[in-house]
Amino acid sequence: MRHRIAVVGGGPAGLTFARVLHRHGHPVTVLERDASPDARPPGGTLDLHEGMGQLALNRAGLLAEFQALSRPEGQAMRILDTDGTVLRDWRPRPGDRANPEIDRGQLRDLLLGPLDVRWGRGVTEVVPGTRDGALVRFADGRQETFDLVVGADGAWSRVRRAISSATPHYTGVTLVETSLDDVDTRHPGLARLVGDGSVAVYGVNRALVAQRNSGGHVKVYAQFRTPPDRLSGLDPADVEAVRSGLLDLFDGWAAPVLDLLRHGTAFVQRPLHVLPVSHTWEHVPGVTLLGDAAHLMPPLGVGANLAMLEGSELAESVAAASDPGDLDEAVRVFEERMWERAGRWAEITAAGLERLVSPDPAEAIALFDAVQPS
Ligand SMILES: Cc1cc2nc3c(=O)[nH]c(=O)nc-3n(C[C@H](O)[C@H](O)[C@H](O)COP(=O)(O)OP(=O)(O)OC[C@H]3O[C@@H](n4cnc5c(N)ncnc54)[C@H](O)[C@@H]3O)c2cc1C
Repeated sequence: MRHRIAVVGGGPAGLTFARVLHRHGHPVTVLERDASPDARPPGGTLDLHEGMGQLALNRAGLLAEFQALSRPEGQAMRILDTDGTVLRDWRPRPGDRANPEIDRGQLRDLLLGPLDVRWGRGVTEVVPGTRDGALVRFADGRQETFDLVVGADGAWSRVRRAISSATPHYTGVTLVETSLDDVDTRHPGLARLVGDGSVAVYGVNRALVAQRNSGGHVKVYAQFRTPPDRLSGLDPADVEAVRSGLLDLFDGWAAPVLDLLRHGTAFVQRPLHVLPVSHTWEHVPGVTLLGDAAHLMPPLGVGANLAMLEGSELAESVAAASDPGDLDEAVRVFEERMWERAGRWAEITAAGLERLVSPDPAEAIALFDAVQPS
């Protein structure tokens, strides 16, 4: 039996879910609020772990294409002291494919492939348990019912409201993102500083991280503790005011490090929010969640990996379920497994954020030493 399945959100979670179902020949409706794949910048680079994001891509039949696109050299990681001294300089061994990097836009295009996404379909509400299934209401007033609605609609999920009252709360850390283009030709010194992968500098309650993306593009993330109501008091639209505010905040750091901010173009402010650790809900037939919608956590290299792994697992379970009772049981089993695993990662990443943006910068180095292979 072919269940009517909808997934809300075309991020890593929703697209992986849809692509694995598609591979199994099971129809799926993908509902995405963005008007088109290029409606907004896709974001920075993601490292996909062997047992998580890469496993999911394997289930989607896309591992070989990922390996051709991804950048194993992007795993390189350098840590500097605030005076510019190199404290750690880790490079992957030849052939190391544990966590290669891929641009988000490349990953999205890889997953999209033949999928028929309904762009510009913002979902406003999901009502479970109607006579004909779970009802989806759209921003344009239309509505449609499905046997299963999967909420993969990210941090501020609309689908989540149908099954949980949890809402994200502020972590105390804000991240301001900027970027540099053509670094190898326009900023060769910064290109060397960043290397093939990432460079991170940790100070008291603040950090600067720069990551190389493909095509000479570098994303820079300034992270710092700030109260939620002040959020550094900067108007994000005023580029020069944000730049000078950040340069004040990182005053005294080595000049080449500050050049990452001096040459940054636009600035985007991202207060980091999280859902409660071990967020669960009473199972509701016909609706479930995946990825950030289910377990938003600090960005420590796990969120997209978990989202994709879960997407692939749920898709395989749905494809194997032949009648409505089987479908509901498959979702229940999936949820238990997701909650248990995501709960562990939520604890790890919450503790990690405390150490990376900490009063004692040595904590960040110790964390790096604990997780980095020698
Ligand atoms: C700066 C930064 C760096 C990160 N780096 C990494 C990393 O290196 N590795 C890693 O694993 N994770 C990383 N993460 C975390 C990762 O980005 C997220 O965990 C991941 O994107 C979650 O995927 P998702 O599909 O659940 O949600 P999202 O990526 O948020 O996708 C949700 C989709 O749903 C759509 N949508 C939202 N609302 C609606 C609606 N009402 N109707 C229809 N569509 C809707 C959105 O437009 C979007 O396309 C990082 C996060 C940040 C902020």
